[in-house]
Amino acid sequence: MKHTFIKAVLESRDFGKDFTVAGWARTRRDSKGGFSFIELNDGSCYKNLQVVAPAALPNYESEIQRITTGVSLKVRGKLVESPAAGQAVELHAESVEVLGTCDPLAYPLSKGRISFERLREVAHLRARTNTFGAVMRIRNVLAMATHRFFQSRGFYYFNAPILTASDCEGAGEMFQVTTLDMNRLPTDKATGKVDFDRDFFGKPVNLTVSGQLEAETYACALGSVYTFGPTFRAEKSNTTRHLSEFWMIEPEIAFADLQDDADVAEDYLRALFTAVLQECPEDLAFCDQRIEKGLLERLTRLSTAKFARITYTEAIELLEKAADTFEFKPSWGCDLQSEHERYLAEKVFNGPVIVMNYPKEIKAFYMRQNDDGKTVAAMDVLLPEVGEIIGGSQREERLDRLEERIRECGMDPASYWWYLDLRRYGSVPHAGFGLGFERMVRFCTGMANIRDVIPFPRAPREVEF
Ligand code: ATP
Ligand code: MN
Repeated sequence: MKHTFIKAVLESRDFGKDFTVAGWARTRRDSKGGFSFIELNDGSCYKNLQVVAPAALPNYESEIQRITTGVSLKVRGKLVESPAAGQAVELHAESVEVLGTCDPLAYPLSKGRISFERLREVAHLRARTNTFGAVMRIRNVLAMATHRFFQSRGFYYFNAPILTASDCEGAGEMFQVTTLDMNRLPTDKATGKVDFDRDFFGKPVNLTVSGQLEAETYACALGSVYTFGPTFRAEKSNTTRHLSEFWMIEPEIAFADLQDDADVAEDYLRALFTAVLQECPEDLAFCDQRIEKGLLERLTRLSTAKFARITYTEAIELLEKAADTFEFKPSWGCDLQSEHERYLAEKVFNGPVIVMNYPKEIKAFYMRQNDDGKTVAAMDVLLPEVGEIIGGSQREERLDRLEERIRECGMDPASYWWYLDLRRYGSVPHAGFGLGFERMVRFCTGMANIRDVIPFPRAPREVEF
């Protein structure tokens, strides 16, 4: 099936040349003069190729005039300069082969406008719509731009394990993995509890919530690394910003402090904005028109923006001045809510903000303790519209301080033996962050719900396909 992508055909000006294309019909209309006009899309780009099929074709009445939305076709024809406005070229068909028919009464995408909620129920077909085609092509460019950015800076791509026995951060938010028979769980005679010694790994195992701890071990050997893989959180929160399965990018940098970490985060975000602007002009123009007005202007502005940097304490002072506008009143010691994050980015700074040095009580045990005894070297990067996009920190590299903090958090240092070894043997200052990939795709497409920027969203009670 040698064929040319429609994207390449549309860019070609080789008039008179033969091309073979394959795709799905979006629409068909017949002219009085004995032609069928078929708008063909193959997913290679947003635009359709107009195929002009003459009545002289042998299957004109039997097949071509029966083409409806969704029918798959292979077309061979000559490239012709288009007389119609809005397109430079069209294909004059010499043969039209119907590969697969598509019953218009049953096909879920036959009708014109369909809500995103309805499309989620047919997620296996929704990539054939303009919106989801654009979103997925933008997602692809963001992924490649991520690899390019880190590779060009000497970071090594590191694959963290998905199955893990370290119940690192939010233990309650993990998915447990087991091969035990749920209907006949083996119990330990002495304690009456489930006997995980009989489970596949001989102990409880979960899906990872973050590859960070493992990435730290490789940063402390290869220098700079980054993960880019799936992570899992069994959060019950049903929001437009949370998924149960999402992709995270986690760079980890040896010999770096919090300011270095923030510098990398800033450069990385600008590189992503620049990449989509350069590589997805058509898909972005569509999103700007149909999904979110002002998207292009915002991305263009942010691609060169300097990020504001403030401390958590300063952030609280700013928020307290506007306490009336919030549902949740801010005060020192509380975690920033989404409404606070957005207020800072949208109303105070009108652009990205990096908030640093959070109270240690609301942050993870591995963050480096500051000299004030109250805060840790953490940072969150906040963007307009989405709030938190990145969470990061300088890691505690002092063995005694880290062990003490693990105990304070009610955990057992012994179960972190390998993590603590990094501090025993040639410890170095190091820092890193995590970026939620889908939050980035959401930000760059203007999509309102995070479920609509990943092919098959997983959320509470949502796991079809
Ligand atoms: P939030 O407060 O928004 O839930 P978090 O503090 O739990 O975020 P981190 O643990 O710092 O987030 O994770 C790093 C990044 O991963 C976040 O900045 C965010 O971009 C992304 N992220 C976190 N949880 C989710 C989720 N459930 N779905 C999608 N992305 C997420
Ligand atoms: Mn969270």
